Amino acid sequence: MAVREAIPSLREADTEQKVSSFAKALFLGEIHDELVFPWPSPEADEQARIRDLNARLREYCAENYDPRRIEEERWIPDETLRELGEIGVMGLYVDERHGGQGLSQTGYARVFETIGEIDATLAIVLGVHQSIGYKGISLFGSDEQKDRWLPDLATGRKFAAFALTEPRAGSDAYEIQTRAVRQPDGAWVLNGEKRYIGNGSRADVLTVFARCEIDGRDKHIALLVEKGMDGFEVGERYDTMGLRGNDLRRLYFKDVRVPPENVLGEEGDGFRVAMQILNNGRIGLGTGSVGATKKLLDLTIGHVKERQQFGQPLADFELVQDKVGWMVSYLFGLEAMTYLTCGLVDAGVPDYSLESAICKVSGTEFLWYAANRSLQLAGGQGYLRSEPWEKVVRDIRIFPIFEGANDVLRAFIALGGIKPVGEKLEGLGDIGLSDPIGSIGVLVDYVADRARREVRPDRIGMAHEELSGHADAVSDQVKQLAGTTEKLLREHGKDVIRRQFQQKRLADIVADVFAQVAVLSRVSNIFEDQGVEASGQERFIADTFCSRAASRVRGNFDQVESNDDDRMSSLAKLAYKRGEYGYALFED
Ligand SMILES: Cc1cc2nc3c(=O)[nH]c(=O)nc-3n(C[C@H](O)[C@H](O)[C@H](O)COP(=O)(O)OP(=O)(O)OC[C@H]3O[C@@H](n4cnc5c(N)ncnc54)[C@H](O)[C@@H]3O)c2cc1C
Repeated sequence: MAVREAIPSLREADTEQKVSSFAKALFLGEIHDELVFPWPSPEADEQARIRDLNARLREYCAENYDPRRIEEERWIPDETLRELGEIGVMGLYVDERHGGQGLSQTGYARVFETIGEIDATLAIVLGVHQSIGYKGISLFGSDEQKDRWLPDLATGRKFAAFALTEPRAGSDAYEIQTRAVRQPDGAWVLNGEKRYIGNGSRADVLTVFARCEIDGRDKHIALLVEKGMDGFEVGERYDTMGLRGNDLRRLYFKDVRVPPENVLGEEGDGFRVAMQILNNGRIGLGTGSVGATKKLLDLTIGHVKERQQFGQPLADFELVQDKVGWMVSYLFGLEAMTYLTCGLVDAGVPDYSLESAICKVSGTEFLWYAANRSLQLAGGQGYLRSEPWEKVVRDIRIFPIFEGANDVLRAFIALGGIKPVGEKLEGLGDIGLSDPIGSIGVLVDYVADRARREVRPDRIGMAHEELSGHADAVSDQVKQLAGTTEKLLREHGKDVIRRQFQQKRLADIVADVFAQVAVLSRVSNIFEDQGVEASGQERFIADTFCSRAASRVRGNFDQVESNDDDRMSSLAKLAYKRGEYGYALFED
């Protein structure tokens, strides 16, 4: 019997049993595989629309889009942007009533992958526009705000930006200094400065975050600032290493009067608005990394088959196969993980903050290492400006830094998982994890009704039986994750917040567990669709990916117990004290 038919998906079933977050539940030792099986796929008619959009986008860009010219001119020609808007890629997730394509998160991601394949600058300009620039209007806007802005934004007649970062508040975005003060007539007067803002001088509408006072308490507010408002000035443009077509600016707000109808979401709720937008945007960086790696892998395959050295194609050397094989297997896993996360969003799972952070961290780092390996295999040719690799490497270096630096996101992932465990443990429920990590990200509470749920599934039961070996191994890893998290909490208590070496291990473990689950879901679905016999390649990749991921997980668990963390901290502190490296080979 088909697995899919045997167990109805809880995504459509009894809401009482729903958990709010798949990844957070893993830290509790619970595997809610009803959320991740069967593998999510868009309906056939949406698939057809995605294919059509991708085909039109590729055809248009092949003729009209020149990444090098855009680098030189440092902006995408307005005509190109207008025509891209007409194709429909400026309003992918916006409903059709507001002039968009009405795609699901999965559909959005699939088209964005294609944009990522074409050019990283295009992905960032369009991503800043819709992934973060006007995403807030779509998520939190009133009907009036949606009617007023979405039709122009979704068709590219207007452009959007997202302005959070400031000189003194980067990773610690909670500490922004820009201030909004309420006026007697309900308007807000905005003063402050933002930096590193994409689409800075091009945007007609900017989602701007500021501090404010609500009922005597210090809060945040999200305001929609419009080009041309008195006191809003665009400052100098930054000269960047890559993404040179991205219009990165400093922005100044000097007594800018923002009318009450331009407040986005609840007054005082601005930080949550910002974090929710970024949660969503991070999935796009994950799937964009999938698209960019596919392009690099295709380039690499073509090159190593063609190029001969030592009397044979590069492709035949083991150390070349090591790199290509790694790229194929990891790409399959990353693709599974990012699209499974899209599926969670589409299914209405309320909290996907950990999953989206995992996609961002895993995707952007994999892309970085894949780009380096691809460039390595291209040899000297890879270093030439006339070739694609050097631009890719310059463009993507920022990915692990922006939309949440990966170090910060690892802490966010680990603490986001630790929090529900802390709440569950007797005597640790009041360790107050929320406040200190409030500045890393708003951690949505684990809202599962744990007390009333009798069954706490701790095994993967919905994977295809042919994959049961891997499913059992992952189930054991989840059990160990719960035990290790609990042990770390008992050992360190509140101080776990400062234990970043261990947080990194927990974050990497849960990412590898989630990726394995995603691969099992994806390949179970392939087995169901085309039969086990006919799916030998996918099975081989799944075996490879899961074995390697399991080995990384084991390594991380081992290091939780036995490590040289204290030595690393000591070396760093010693270096800070010396103020330099300073170990001379000889007096010179
Ligand atoms: C090309 C580009 C486009 C951008 N686009 C936008 C945009 O459109 N809108 C916008 O608002 N912002 C944008 N930014 C800003 C970007 O989001 C920030 O640069 C980023 O959040 C990091 O902040 P920071 O530069 O101040 O670095 P810092 O916060 O100073 O961090 C530097 C490094 O320190 C480490 N670190 C920081 N905190 C911790 C911690 N708690 N634990 C461990 N390590 C830590 C990390 O390695 C981090 O990379 C953009 C930046 C660039 C370069």
